[in-house]
Amino acid sequence: MKFHVLTLFPEMVSNGLDTSVIGKAAKRGLIWINAVNIRDYTQDKHGKVDDYTYGGGAGMLLQAQPVFDAFQAVTEGRRVRTIYVTPQGVPFTQKLAGELAAEEELVFLCGHYEGIDERVLEEIVTDYVSIGDYVLTGGELPAMVMIDAISRLVPGVLGNGVSADTESFHNDLLEYPQYSRPEEWHEKRVPQVLLSGDHRAVEAWRLEQAKERTRRIRPDLYEKYRCRNQVIQRLGKEKRDYVHLMEALRRGKGEILFEEGCRPGGRASGEPLALAVFDRSCGTLLLTASDEAEAGKLLSVIPDACALSVASPRFLADILCEKAGFELLHECYQVCYTQNVNLRVGHGDIRILTLEHSGYVAERYGMGSADYVAERIRSGAMYGAFAEDRLVGFIGIHEDGSVGMLYVDPDCRRQGIGAALEAYAINRERERGHIPYAHIIVGNEGSLRLQEKLGLYRARRTICWLAKKACISEKSMLDS
Ligand code: SAM
Repeated sequence: MKFHVLTLFPEMVSNGLDTSVIGKAAKRGLIWINAVNIRDYTQDKHGKVDDYTYGGGAGMLLQAQPVFDAFQAVTEGRRVRTIYVTPQGVPFTQKLAGELAAEEELVFLCGHYEGIDERVLEEIVTDYVSIGDYVLTGGELPAMVMIDAISRLVPGVLGNGVSADTESFHNDLLEYPQYSRPEEWHEKRVPQVLLSGDHRAVEAWRLEQAKERTRRIRPDLYEKYRCRNQVIQRLGKEKRDYVHLMEALRRGKGEILFEEGCRPGGRASGEPLALAVFDRSCGTLLLTASDEAEAGKLLSVIPDACALSVASPRFLADILCEKAGFELLHECYQVCYTQNVNLRVGHGDIRILTLEHSGYVAERYGMGSADYVAERIRSGAMYGAFAEDRLVGFIGIHEDGSVGMLYVDPDCRRQGIGAALEAYAINRERERGHIPYAHIIVGNEGSLRLQEKLGLYRARRTICWLAKKACISEKSMLDS
């Protein structure tokens, strides 16, 4: 992950990010911090980069020319998400950190004095982001705060894949209290349950503590948690149809943009009238509606950043194509694994893939770009089957959370390797506390049979993957 920081004080940024976890990550090559002095790009012979503001007022303004030239020098024509850190921006949150961590490269623009000439902001900035409702003297500290929060979500940086999943703000809860040795200090004992060795009891205690703490300190956050949980519970009554929506919410990836409750006295009490969940990390909008009138309500919540949509039932997909500029990519069966046991894996050598395998996967995976494959591998989301140390097949977890991308070399087919890869991925998903699910293009009956043989259940109705017409050429697509 590359961070370019455009600043008047590059040494402040380099020194500030040179220690501890972030410093080590940079030394290990997991992140790269390029602090660029805007002053190096001024055309003023005295090195001046600021001037008075038109219309009067106290203070100086950073001029457009040096900022623009510094930006062009680092991006060299590439389209890179460019964040102007400013008190006028949207609040920086853990969710936004997660979204930005999925990028390969980011530019941070740090203002100083009274800020930056508006005209250059209009030309280069994609996101305006603030670290809080107060005014600092410069953008270096906000940029460093954001880089720190984003970097620790880059795979490998924390060295402990699970810790970011249990921390504050994951799923809208603050973290539970924690204790270390000794068992007693200042006559305060560590809660007994934490010494019990009973993992379930520990998890339940932690969840209760997190809820209690959030309710007390951040009632606004707790309300979000409560509403989301209510929706998840309702969807859980019809898991097969709604597992994709449930999982986007359970995994803390999806944000509810619109929700209208259950059908009164309806057959399935879990069935929402209308629901829109947006997964910002992959620009995918998940939609469901009970009838055409409800579907109409969803049209107004489609965000600009939405490139893909997963819609069900079919009539909703048709409405999106007709009225919202989407195009149907695939109609799919949805299957999910809800049993409480791991599957038997009938192949001995399945391992997590690393970037050295990206060429093999990209050549054989027909439905997505090489960039998508590399990103999935970097996220630790791809597994490979090896025969005598040769990679002969792979499977992956898509950005949206579904299991897919299954491939086995032609000379190794009919030996159970596909089933083994599928079982392996399902088991890994279960270990993460996820409900494994997959989307299979209608017509791929072989794949459907494999899933059903492994014990996955098929939804009553199909779901449709759609792309915004303008985005079709840019975005890779998903398949099982
Ligand atoms: N005149 C500006 C205003 O009222 O919005 C404030 C300028 S501030 C003194 C200088 C720079 O510090 C800003 O351009 C911005 O880059 C950075 N900055 C200050 N407070 C910030 C905050 N809360 N979040 C992000 N950046 C901030």
